[in-house]
Amino acid sequence: MVIVHDYWLDGKTAEGLFYVRSRETQRCPICGSELSVSGSRKRGILEESGEKKALRIRRLWCDRCNRIHHELPDIVVPYKRYGSEAIENILSDKPEHSNVCPCELSTAKRIKLWFFLLREYYESVMESLKVYWEEDQEITAMISMLLPLSEYHRRSAGWLKVLVRLLVNSNRWLHTRSA
Ligand SMILES: [Zn+2]
Repeated sequence: MVIVHDYWLDGKTAEGLFYVRSRETQRCPICGSELSVSGSRKRGILEESGEKKALRIRRLWCDRCNRIHHELPDIVVPYKRYGSEAIENILSDKPEHSNVCPCELSTAKRIKLWFFLLREYYESVMESLKVYWEEDQEITAMISMLLPLSEYHRRSAGWLKVLVRLLVNSNRWLHTRSA
């Protein structure tokens, strides 16, 4: 089972939507069965520049679990309005971004609180995935790159994307309603 997918965005359509594409066959994060496509939904994200993007995300169906899964591109952090790059910069307090970040201070505070509260949970999930995927060097290398999570300031750009992909595709994402 592949839990890490390569996503990219296809050019804008007439309706101004970006389509999310993936190379791999999508499999159920719970049982590993092949998923079939059953429609799609729209999801908006904000870039750090303040630019809005509308994404068309496929809705996938698992026959075995009778559950809907949404294909999630790694630029999206579930239930966060901002794209992962913008959130990474907020978390890192990058001085070069403090002037251009369009988000209000309260949003930045909520995003920091979310990460602070869930960091330990994410870290323990990464530890268990590392054991679970111990024979897959590509995945264990990605996980090792993220740990310890408390040192996210030192990670190279894109670390949040990797974290989100691993969490969502292994069905370990917690659906909080903040930010
Ligand atoms: Zn399933």
